[in-house]
Amino acid sequence: MLTFENFDLSTNIISAIKELGYENPTPIQEKTIPHLLNTNQDLVGLAQTGTGKTAAFGLPILEQIDPRNKFTQCIILSPTRELCMQISKDMMGYAKYLPEIRVTAVYGGASIDNQIRDLKKGSHIIVGTPGRVLDLLQRRILKINQIKFLVLDEADEMLNMGFKEDMDAILETTPKEKQTLLFSATMPKEIRNIALNYMNNPEEISVGTKNSGADDVEHFYYLVNAKNRYLALKRIADINPDIFGIVFCRTRRETQEVADKLIQDGYNADSLHGDLSQAQRDHVMSKFRSKHLQILVATDVAARGIDVNDLTHIINYNLPDEREIYIHRSGRTGRAGKKGVSVSIVHSRELHKIREIQKILKKPINRKDVPGGEEICHKQLMNMISRIEKIETIDNQIEEFLPEIYEKLSWLSREDLLKRFVSVEFNRFLKYYKNAPDLNISEKSVNERTRKGRGIDGDDNRFEKKGYKFTKFFLTIGEKDGLTKVKLMEIINNDDRLAGAEIGKIEILKGFTFFEVDARLENEVIKAFNNKRYLGKRLKIEVKTGQPKRNSDRPKSSKSGKSEYGYSKKHESGKSKTAYSKGARTGGRKRS
Ligand code: AMP
Repeated sequence: MLTFENFDLSTNIISAIKELGYENPTPIQEKTIPHLLNTNQDLVGLAQTGTGKTAAFGLPILEQIDPRNKFTQCIILSPTRELCMQISKDMMGYAKYLPEIRVTAVYGGASIDNQIRDLKKGSHIIVGTPGRVLDLLQRRILKINQIKFLVLDEADEMLNMGFKEDMDAILETTPKEKQTLLFSATMPKEIRNIALNYMNNPEEISVGTKNSGADDVEHFYYLVNAKNRYLALKRIADINPDIFGIVFCRTRRETQEVADKLIQDGYNADSLHGDLSQAQRDHVMSKFRSKHLQILVATDVAARGIDVNDLTHIINYNLPDEREIYIHRSGRTGRAGKKGVSVSIVHSRELHKIREIQKILKKPINRKDVPGGEEICHKQLMNMISRIEKIETIDNQIEEFLPEIYEKLSWLSREDLLKRFVSVEFNRFLKYYKNAPDLNISEKSVNERTRKGRGIDGDDNRFEKKGYKFTKFFLTIGEKDGLTKVKLMEIINNDDRLAGAEIGKIEILKGFTFFEVDARLENEVIKAFNNKRYLGKRLKIEVKTGQPKRNSDRPKSSKSGKSEYGYSKKHESGKSKTAYSKGARTGGRKRS
């Protein structure tokens, strides 16, 4: 087996990583480290999070930084503040015995003045989010015209987050002679284009099969009625008493609702999403990192950059629309050689998504039955018994109370005593799961119902539009600005506040656009669009007041002229909210 001594790394670096407990290089390190040490060729690395890619590029880059030269020699672009902080912390750890090398992290959401002060001291390696890096370049604080290395980390995430233009602008200012490294968990066309446009004949390496999930992750799904999602989630938590995982939801609102209900039902859960302040997010993350929190309910955007090993479960409360997002979510477990499970709670109309995801995952996602009450009670009981077996007793402090306890309980038999001790915590489970219904639905019945043209869930009909009120918006860009329906949907779905929102009619005209969104999200839509830029053009958005005109005098769609009422991608999330808010609230338990 290879060790780090097999590479041409200096003893300073080897000592530092030994202290971090790294014994043998991971597969991506085996491939990347010698490549970077021995060649100037660009590199595209297809690798999931958790594969050890930070050290894969970090160690050979540190080896080649010249500390006497004060210029910035390496810039690492990364999608989120959390990832930037993580990477710079890792780099500083690897450089523990190279004290003259300076690493600075720059990211949005934090004071730019402090970062400017840091940069003015000179920094060999910059780790930054694209927006903040561009800002600092434009202020001429940051200079990257002499860099030797450019790293694009989690490049697909940076594109998903809308950083394409910022990245283009940054890349323009880098020197021609440099080594560019691009790491991505998935390889969509847009990433290939970056490799083509900005890289010079890159070597391509991948760990595992392309676009596949980590090998240590087992994938399965539960098929339930949409209205039973939350009940299924509770059963998943109950059948896994030692769960330490993330539940992914689509919208901030749904995230908060699911977390609130879990907390109310006695679970050790909390939420992470964009409506929380940075301080609140930091607080939740520190509870989660230190394992004082078992279940983190999060949106995809907020969970980016979470670097927590040992997660036992990833739970997809809803399946994401993009298959790549599933890969990202499930890649958060099964890390650093540990086994993990990625579970999806799926309702009838999401089955096709499971098939789609399997295609890129190149692994089966098998169905499992949602556990029934008896199975859960048995599991909980045995878990409690083994906790009792393992618990450490503080004998010298308990002993003085023992005579009194013996006396008080002397009338009980050993069997009665056991029953009573167990019941203290267990009665709630027995009561909650007594006569608990079977939540599973059969795939056969799904197919039959679908053939007959009815939804399996009475309250979850894709074509059912009743009950939604839409607000109509006027947006100051249109077809001539390159906007299409798909792009507009992308902007909406990529915004954490709006992902999964109910969308009504979209009309893209030459110079402007009308579209409808669930009226409850009016303010969020305005925040998401106003003063943002689309392909360089500043956006203005307004609520269109007054009744929409009728068909005859409505502006015609620029392409077909047809009415486009009913354009909607995601009815499930809105509906399931009403469904689970009616659901049972009993059961659960307090966890320490
Ligand atoms: P990364 O993919 O860079 O986020 O790394 C994932 C986790 O694996 C981090 O906690 C690293 O500290 C750890 N790690 C990276 N390389 C090694 C290694 N060779 N041996 C043990 N742990 C490692």
